[in-house]
Amino acid sequence: MVTRRELVRALAGAVGEAAVIYRPEDLLLYEYDATIEKSQPYAVVLPATAQEVADCVHVCRSFGIPVTPRGAGTGLSGGAVPARAGVVISTARMRQILEIDVENRLAVVQPGVANLHVSEAAAVHGLFYAPDPSSQKACTIGGNVAENAGGPHCLALGVTQNHVLGIEVVTADGDVRWLGGRVPDAHGYDLRGLFIGSEGTLGIATSVIVRLLPVPPSVRTLLAIFDSIEAASRTVSAVIGAGMITAALEMRDNDTIRAAEAGLHCGYPEDAGAVLLIELDGVADAVEAQSGRATDICYANGTREVRSASSAAERALLWRGRKEAIGSLGQLAPNYYILDGVVPRSRLVETMRRVEAISAAAGLQVANVFHAGDGNLHPCIVFDEREPGATARVLEAGAAVMQACVDAGGALSGEHGVGFEKQQFMAWLYNEADLENMARLRPVFGNDGLFNPCKVIPEGTGCGEMAHQAAALRAAGPDAYI
Ligand SMILES: Cc1cc2nc3c(=O)[nH]c(=O)nc-3n(C[C@H](O)[C@H](O)[C@H](O)COP(=O)(O)OP(=O)(O)OC[C@H]3O[C@@H](n4cnc5c(N)ncnc54)[C@H](O)[C@@H]3O)c2cc1C
Repeated sequence: MVTRRELVRALAGAVGEAAVIYRPEDLLLYEYDATIEKSQPYAVVLPATAQEVADCVHVCRSFGIPVTPRGAGTGLSGGAVPARAGVVISTARMRQILEIDVENRLAVVQPGVANLHVSEAAAVHGLFYAPDPSSQKACTIGGNVAENAGGPHCLALGVTQNHVLGIEVVTADGDVRWLGGRVPDAHGYDLRGLFIGSEGTLGIATSVIVRLLPVPPSVRTLLAIFDSIEAASRTVSAVIGAGMITAALEMRDNDTIRAAEAGLHCGYPEDAGAVLLIELDGVADAVEAQSGRATDICYANGTREVRSASSAAERALLWRGRKEAIGSLGQLAPNYYILDGVVPRSRLVETMRRVEAISAAAGLQVANVFHAGDGNLHPCIVFDEREPGATARVLEAGAAVMQACVDAGGALSGEHGVGFEKQQFMAWLYNEADLENMARLRPVFGNDGLFNPCKVIPEGTGCGEMAHQAAALRAAGPDAYI
C-alpha cells in the first residue's frame, strides 16, 4: 500500500521533482488520447534516458502500480489511456535524433521524436523515413513502433514493421535490452518483430533504429473526382487488379471533402461523391507512363475528371486536404469517433453500404476517409458528446461497424491497434487458445499484468470503469491509499 504523495516522492527520486506531474489539473491532459475513453493516472513521469525509464518502472513495480507508456497521445484505440490509473511514462523529453548514418541508410532516434522530424532531418541527405501516418506532425516514433503504424505511402513501401531494424527497450520488468540491431534479418526468433505492434504491453521503446530510403526522383499526384463512392471503389480494385503499385491510393467521401474545404481550402470539388488521391513515384519516364495508365483506368470506371498537381505547392495542398481531413471534422460536429477496420478490397463497396445502413439506423452522421488501396477504412462518426446518450449510441454503432468488417472477412484494425477500445472484440476473431497464447508472450517481457493493463487481450473485470475511477481519484486527497 502506498499513498499518492509517497508514490510521487519515489518517482521524483528517479527522475527529479520537475519531471513528475501530479496535480489533478495537470493530470487532466493525460487522461485521454485521440479516441473517446478517459481515465486519469495517479502521476505522469517524464524521464530523459533509458535508465530513468527503467528506474520509474522499478518504482511502480515495487508498489504494484500499473504503468502505461505514452508518446504524443494521438493514438486512436485508447492505448495510452491509463485504464487502471497508475503511472503514465511519457517519452516527451526523449526527442533527439541521435544519428543519421547516410552510408548505411539508417537513423537512430529517441522514442519521443515526431515522425515527420525524421524525414525532415534526413532530407538534406536525399533520404526519408517511409511510414507516414496522417498524424505525422505530432505522433512519435515510439508510438508508431507500438502501433505498427501505417500511412498513405505504406501501400507500396510497407508499414513500420518493414522500416525498423532495432529497438532499445525497457521491458515491463525494468530490464534494458536491444531487440534487433543495425542490420536486417538477424538470426533466431524475431523479438523485434514481436515488439512492433505490441501496443505498449511488453515494454517501452527508448531508442529506435529506422531504415531510411532515397527520396524518389520523380513524383506525380493525381486527383480523380467521382460522383459516387461505388465508382471510386471500383477504380481502386481496377488499379490494383491491373498490377499497378501506386505510391498512395487514398479515398475521401463528400462529407470529409466539405468539412476539409470549409477550413483548409485545398481546392477539392465540394460536389464530388468521392475523390481518389493517386500518387506515383520513381524514375520520370515510368511515372509518366504509370500516371497515363492510372488516368485511363479512372475514366474507364466512371471518373468525372482527373486533375494532376502541376507544382510541389499544388501537391502539398492536395496532401494537406487528405492528411488534415480528420481534424477538419470539427466543422461538422464537436466530437468525432474514428473507426479503423480492414476488409478485402473486393468487399469495400458492400461494407461501405453496411456502414451507411448502421449509421442511418442509429441516426448518426458518418464521414469516410480511407487508405483505399489497403482496404483500410476509417468511418468517422461525428457527434456531440453533450447530448445525453450520444456517446453510448456512437460506441454501439462503432461495434456494429467492426462486426461488419469481421463479417466481410476483414480485421479489427488496419493501423490504429486494438488498445482498450477493441479488446472485447478480439474473441470475434480469435478462439480462447489463440488469446491464451498471446497472453503467454507477456511474461517473456516481464509483464505480470500491471504493464498497460486492459489493452489488446480481453481482461474482463476492472477494465470497464475508467470514467468512475478518474472521478474517484480526483476526489481523493494525496494521502489516501491507492
Ligand atoms: C488525425 C489523426 C490521423 C491519424 N492517422 C494515422 C495514420 O494514417 N496511420 C496510423 O497508423 N495511425 C494514424 N493515427 C493514429 C496514431 O497517430 C498512431 O497510432 C501513432 O502511432 C500513435 O503515436 P503516439 O506517439 O501518439 O502514441 P500514443 O497515442 O501516445 O500511444 C499509442 C500506444 O503506443 C504506446 N506507446 C507510446 N510510446 C511508446 C513507447 N516509446 N514504447 C512502447 N509503447 C509506446 C502507448 O502505450 C499506446 O499503447 C492518426 C491519429 C490521428 C489523431
